[in-house]
Amino acid sequence: MIQDIFPHKLDNAYKNKTATDNDYIVIFDNRSVVVEKLSDKDYRFPKYSQIKNLINAENLRYLFSVDDNAYYLYTAENTQSVQDKFDVLSLVEVRKMKYDYFKEMYFLICTAWHIYSWYTDNRFCGKCGEKLSHDKDERVLICPNCENHIYPRISPAVIIGVTNGDKIIMSKYAGRPYKGYALLSGFVEVGETLEQTVEREVMEEVGVRVKNIRYYKSQPGGIDGNILSGFFCELDGDDTLKVDTNELAFAKWFKRDEIPVDDDGFSLTFEMIGKFNEKV
Ligand SMILES: [Zn+2]
Repeated sequence: MIQDIFPHKLDNAYKNKTATDNDYIVIFDNRSVVVEKLSDKDYRFPKYSQIKNLINAENLRYLFSVDDNAYYLYTAENTQSVQDKFDVLSLVEVRKMKYDYFKEMYFLICTAWHIYSWYTDNRFCGKCGEKLSHDKDERVLICPNCENHIYPRISPAVIIGVTNGDKIIMSKYAGRPYKGYALLSGFVEVGETLEQTVEREVMEEVGVRVKNIRYYKSQPGGIDGNILSGFFCELDGDDTLKVDTNELAFAKWFKRDEIPVDDDGFSLTFEMIGKFNEKV
């Protein structure tokens, strides 16, 4: 899955550090990211030494480290001087780069984008309107006027493999850019357990009851800033699907030998489909 970058290790605890020449700088602009293209299939972020004459170091914010390499976010809005010197990939292009050699880069872009979105969504205090300040030691924004503390927000969601013997429900979303196959999924509502979310989403999306709900694995949700929890469950009762066409373009039962996709090595959804497919 996207977070599996072994033997490398992400350390995303906040540190109050300043960038040095070998550190990498992550620069977003309008749902795009600035990268250095080393070859057709190999990209990296610009190093501080390459761009320090083009940027104002006061606008750098420590992001995370991978092994011994530190990454910083450039928070200024005008990034044209850097974009002119490097390549720019849209996040849509980034999503399509599902190659092993791009995996670590993909995960770092997703994680950096999540933090970047949180910073740009939280410039001012929601209670009193004062400009927020960054804490010295933790990744938390604090209002100097009313002491409101704002921590990074992560939205929990579930991915659901509904099975019935040798069949599993697969679907395609309605009205979303992603047109491929998916398992059922949905966001957790306030006051719900994850298991209740599973029951509710399956009922809402395809109109069947489920039982024997088992947690499988989780995955950071990538560019969308979620945490995805994967669950398998079994059909309980009538197998007739009543598809919510506002949410789904279609949903149907697939037998193991009819499943049209394989584990892509990237997503929890496809790992779960692959896992179900193994149990012959
Ligand atoms: Zn305030």
